Amino acid sequence: MFSYRHAFHAGNHADVLKHTVLIATLDHLLEKEAALTVVDTHAGAGLYRLDGDYAGTSGEAAEGILRLLAPPKAAPAAAPGAGKPPKTAAKAPDAPLADALARYLEVVGDFNPKGGARIYPGSPFIVHHLLREHDKLKLFELHPTDARTLDANIAQLEAGRQIAVLRDDGFGSATKFLPPPSRRALVLCDPSYEIKSDYARVLDFVAEALKRFATGTYAVWYPIIPRPEAHDLPRRLKTMATKAGKSWLHATLTVKSSKITTDATGATHRPGLPASGMFLINPPFTLKPLLAAALPQMVERLAQDRNATFSLDAGG
Ligand code: SAM
Repeated sequence: MFSYRHAFHAGNHADVLKHTVLIATLDHLLEKEAALTVVDTHAGAGLYRLDGDYAGTSGEAAEGILRLLAPPKAAPAAAPGAGKPPKTAAKAPDAPLADALARYLEVVGDFNPKGGARIYPGSPFIVHHLLREHDKLKLFELHPTDARTLDANIAQLEAGRQIAVLRDDGFGSATKFLPPPSRRALVLCDPSYEIKSDYARVLDFVAEALKRFATGTYAVWYPIIPRPEAHDLPRRLKTMATKAGKSWLHATLTVKSSKITTDATGATHRPGLPASGMFLINPPFTLKPLLAAALPQMVERLAQDRNATFSLDAGG
């Protein structure tokens, strides 16, 4: 069975990127009155305690959301042998936050009325928080413990038939909701990539989803790690979107080098997740300018060494 638990990673730099993009995309899609269906193929537990045991063990939020909430610091000093300086827009570190980042913090803040980020909302709670009564949310989660926790967390919302929680394979079953009756949908595909085959399953899933519902908005998160499948994934998604005549957007955020280092005692240190990306098909036209302003600030605030950088491309 799976060992990945999102609670260890909640609020990390990858969540900052993913959830900033998710919120900016939803804000745009919700401007139209017609009902929207959101399908979250890999939902996780829904809500996380950043002061709880899981988050405390890894401390990943400390290098993510918690850095955004702290007063801005100057850029980190160059590490020996480090490469180019961060690709930022060279703004003063105390410049006002870009709209998309400010909005992300506002949404997380809604779950923490006393300030800080003791509670971190996962994608199901972020989405539900933004949806209107006539919109729908379909959540897939396969891990038995996380599925149970998700069920219990969602039950507290008393959302009735607006939210469906399915303890089922998101890759295999989520397309059954496409196209939704209103023919408006956002599909978030956010696997753990714990199994190498997840990369191929993402591609098969998006291909099938596009076949069923070509005008939906699709958002895929992926880790940028030294593995051929991870590098191929955005390239293949781009080819798929282009062949289908669909617009696409690709944003990446790198916070540190992916190099494995050896210390004076000879012990090796793996860097943890150094970077991640979001690939969208049929993105809102508003997303690119919002991210063009937000990504340099993510680099400024979340950089762990001089390899921190971002990229933003779009086409179609
Ligand atoms: N989307 C969540 C968020 O942003 O808060 C985080 C999801 S986490 C990265 C991935 C989740 O997918 C894990 O909770 C894992 O148990 C679950 N999972 C793994 N394989 C799955 C599958 N085939 N179908 C549905 N869920 C799966």
